[in-house]
Amino acid sequence: MLGCSDLTVAYGDIVALHGVTLQVRAGETVALIGANGAGKTTLLQTISGLNKVRGGHISFDGSPLDSLSCERRVRLGIAHAPEGRRIFPGLTVEENLVLATSPWRPPGGRYGDEIAQVFELFPRLKERRRQLGWSLSGGEQQMLAIGRALMARPRLLLLDEPSLGLAPRLAEEVYERVGRIRRSGLTILVVEQNTVLALAVADRGYVLETGRVVLEGAAAELKRDPRVREAYLGR
Ligand code: ATP
Repeated sequence: MLGCSDLTVAYGDIVALHGVTLQVRAGETVALIGANGAGKTTLLQTISGLNKVRGGHISFDGSPLDSLSCERRVRLGIAHAPEGRRIFPGLTVEENLVLATSPWRPPGGRYGDEIAQVFELFPRLKERRRQLGWSLSGGEQQMLAIGRALMARPRLLLLDEPSLGLAPRLAEEVYERVGRIRRSGLTILVVEQNTVLALAVADRGYVLETGRVVLEGAAAELKRDPRVREAYLGR
């Protein structure tokens, strides 16, 4: 479904990705793990069109994405739940969800089905539908960020560190929902520093180090790999 081949991305003189090649097949959940600054966020932002590609290509369903705007990519079915829960703090939960679809929906359009699906997955958001974004807990904000991405009815969901800043129990709760999204058949590319959680939900994984893929394989194999165990699992 998604293919990145020999992808190079730079911020001025700083090369963040050096020839990254990876694939995500339809129906798969793929984890991209790596330490701070490895280039994980850069890769997701490049797939969703926020960064310019310096070298290499990205394809989606066999067609090149390189020249398409972010909005076109969303219309094709790629949705991005960014790191840091970039929700609108001054809007309610419901307004945040409705606004997520506004770029391609006519004003006054109906959003009932999408919102109902998000509320079914995250009942806590339903209880707090009239609560302002800033007053949500970290876990609830993360759920809202994922909910916003789901409002686009994507075929590929890009998740950037859904466990970031969450207490272990909440991080597990968010990942339990990621597991449900996976079982619904959605294709997911998840970026994570929490290797245990990411490999538990994923079919396959890639390890990124300073902008390069250094390891790839089935999630179960990566969990057993001594290099992953030593560098990312603390044993
Ligand atoms: P983290 O887990 O800490 O978010 P990451 O793996 O997501 O790390 P990136 O945020 O993609 O890593 O950063 C990769 C490299 O690119 C880092 O060296 C970072 O300093 C650099 N970088 C990221 N964004 C920018 C930017 N806007 N301008 C300049 N350099 C940047």
